[in-house]
Amino acid sequence: MKPANPLIIHLNDEIATLNLGERLAGFVQPGTVIALIGNLGAGKTTFTKGFARALGVDETSVTSPTYLLQQDYTTNRGFLLHHFDVYRLDDPDEFEALGVGETFDNGGVSIVEWADKAIDSMPKNTWWITIHHAEDGLSRTAELQLPEEIQRELNEA
Ligand code: ADP
Ligand code: MG
Repeated sequence: MKPANPLIIHLNDEIATLNLGERLAGFVQPGTVIALIGNLGAGKTTFTKGFARALGVDETSVTSPTYLLQQDYTTNRGFLLHHFDVYRLDDPDEFEALGVGETFDNGGVSIVEWADKAIDSMPKNTWWITIHHAEDGLSRTAELQLPEEIQRELNEA
């Protein structure tokens, strides 16, 4: 499922990160799981805000759930958006104990910040997005590993 060549997208500013989330929301289907990897402050929640906005969720309600591991939002597409932030996870078993297996399969769309901390719990067909600080120290670079046809469409747009 992981294409050999990830798609690299430069994100010049916060708006670009929001827009990437917004664009990706146009491709998801019920059951899609998106894993976000990147250091603190990389832009994972920013991406999630843009993504949520495109699904009719009030983006100001999307925050880093510091104490909550999971936050659910009703979208205008008939499915729920499950937003996880597993930064504070000490033990990957804790994530399993939340019942994520069932949550991923319940017909909603899931986004998991810090998914690298729970890598064994992520489904095989997960979409992987890694956000790095770019060399200028200000902007960001996103590395996307999505289904090939979606990468192609994003690349051509
Ligand atoms: P994370 O969830 O990865 O910890 P956040 O999404 O909270 O990170 O973002 C941290 C900061 O980075 C925010 O102030 C946001 O405005 C900023 N930011 C997001 N994307 C970019 C970008 N492409 N270029 C510069 N700053 C960005
Ligand atoms: Mg965050």
